[in-house]
Amino acid sequence: TVTVLGSANLDQIVHTTRLPAPGETVSTTATRQGPGGKGLNQAVAAARAGGTVAFVGAVGRDPAGDALLAHLRGNDVRTQHVALVDEPTGSAIVMVDDTGENAILVTGGANGSVAPLPHGSDEWLDCAVLLMQLELPPATVLRCARAARARGVLVVLNAAPAGPLPDGLLDAVDVLVVNEHECRALAGSASLDDAASRLASPVPTLVVTQGARGARWYDRGHLAGTIPPPSVSAVDTTGAGDTFCGALAACLAAGSPLDEVLRFAVVAGALSTQVHGADSAPRLDVVQEALAR
Ligand code: ADP
Repeated sequence: TVTVLGSANLDQIVHTTRLPAPGETVSTTATRQGPGGKGLNQAVAAARAGGTVAFVGAVGRDPAGDALLAHLRGNDVRTQHVALVDEPTGSAIVMVDDTGENAILVTGGANGSVAPLPHGSDEWLDCAVLLMQLELPPATVLRCARAARARGVLVVLNAAPAGPLPDGLLDAVDVLVVNEHECRALAGSASLDDAASRLASPVPTLVVTQGARGARWYDRGHLAGTIPPPSVSAVDTTGAGDTFCGALAACLAAGSPLDEVLRFAVVAGALSTQVHGADSAPRLDVVQEALAR
């Protein structure tokens, strides 16, 4: 089983010819709503990749919260550990211009209410893998990582979005996943190799995703392998990182060896770029078919 502890948002995606400057009013060319938040996206990706998945987080008692719960359940993600709170459901306004440039406003809302150890009981820790990101309160991420580690659960942290890490967090992480930008930002180094070796020293496994170049991984700070993606015609890379993380967690929970896990995650991430939007994670059979090619 995979437990994903993280954020759930209802995103409003607005397309416009150009992003508004301060004080300016600009018309939109298209608007749509969709489920988002790294936690929710990764939980859905893990379930599509064949995992048995539970989501731990919080939503408000509002129509947005109902819609997110329905989306999770519709993707076979268990929701019994999602708290219903008196804050509004998290939301984001994603502005995208004609060149693909974006600007994003996030309201954390209910996500800020996920407690350091959610739901009193620790039943939510009955899992093989705990997958987290950095969109919840840092104290919650730290406490949950430590609690999971103490239980023998494999702790996977996608350190995104890049930001200051709580002291001691990396000591409680088994697998750290970052993209190149996050790797450099977290280590405070312009050189990827240098950044990777700094970040990798406290964690057994560091995985750096590299967009169209796939991913590389480090075993206790030593480069252990690189995995190129299959050739795809990418139309939208939104959600590729979330798909990668979800697929990785599902495959780890299935007990696969790390090199196989990474090949699976790289292929899942690549396939997600062939679909528009953040809700683009492929199903297990589609990933398997691409792996067999
Ligand atoms: P993020 O979405 O967090 O920025 P990346 O861009 O590194 O993360 O993408 C995550 C994974 O998705 C990559 O490791 C790769 O497997 C896949 N991917 C992303 N962009 C492409 C692309 N243009 N072509 C093929 N695969 C891609």
